[in-house]
Amino acid sequence: MNFILNKKIKYYTKESLRWITLLVFGLLIISLIIWLKYKPVYVVTYFGEEIGKVSSKQEIENEIEKYKEEVNEDIAFITLKEQPNYEFKLVSAEEKTNEEEIIQKIKETAIITYRRYAITLAGVQKAVVSTKEEAQNVVDEIKQEFNQDLELDLKITEIIDSNDIETESVDIAVAKVNNDEAIQTKLKEQEATVNGILLQIPITGTITSRFGGRRSGYHTGLDIAANTGTPIKVAAPGVVTYSGNMGNYGKLIIVSHGNGVETYYAHCSKLYVTKGQEVSEGEVIAAVGSTGNSTGPHLHLEVRVDGEIKNPQNYIYK
Ligand SMILES: [Zn+2]
Repeated sequence: MNFILNKKIKYYTKESLRWITLLVFGLLIISLIIWLKYKPVYVVTYFGEEIGKVSSKQEIENEIEKYKEEVNEDIAFITLKEQPNYEFKLVSAEEKTNEEEIIQKIKETAIITYRRYAITLAGVQKAVVSTKEEAQNVVDEIKQEFNQDLELDLKITEIIDSNDIETESVDIAVAKVNNDEAIQTKLKEQEATVNGILLQIPITGTITSRFGGRRSGYHTGLDIAANTGTPIKVAAPGVVTYSGNMGNYGKLIIVSHGNGVETYYAHCSKLYVTKGQEVSEGEVIAAVGSTGNSTGPHLHLEVRVDGEIKNPQNYIYK
């Protein structure tokens, strides 16, 4: 009995092994056929649209990551609007994958955020450059030129924007800020200022004789021709220190503005203010005439600083 049973077990084991071998062999053949005829790929969908096939999902992901890290001074960051979708599939071995095209497509739709640097003057954006270094150069150059005198409120602001904002070169940025109206006005005021006193034009007219030496002698002022009776405005507020006739000057007004600054208005036809009188900005103090040593109606204007005669054209009538 035992002998028969043993024989039976042996028979079945042998049979099973035969079948298993056959099955493994069969599977191998099938795999070989599949391997020869088909290949595994990932079908990529982006924004719901199939954009191609890739053999390695990882490779594409790595490429995208690498691209996103391509940030620099110019680009703040790169983001994708959507993540691509991958679907595993067996396709005919002859079908081609299109990794490069897929990466290109994904790159094209990426959102690039740019980094720029704006130079602001009193909080108002005046120029935009690409790098922080360039912005610093602009500020340094302007500071060197005016900041000590004008105390400009210059700042650098970083701009992060998805638009590729056009930038300027350092030279253009410097010129833009320098030509700013507020700076130009301040500069003009400063140029017209003597010892902190801002001198303004007393009359408009034609300059007929400038300040300085000439054959006939030293001309101590500036002559501005105008019709007799033209109102003469004081160049700056102050106190009248002289009002009356004075030799060659004819009818003369002298105004003291403080800080050692005085102005003289000579050859007047009429004097409207008297000695000791305070005059305010733009006040009419006299009328143009031709009194004293004069050949025609004009204003002879003098500027004196600490008693020294100065060229009025250094401050006014530039
Ligand atoms: Zn003169």
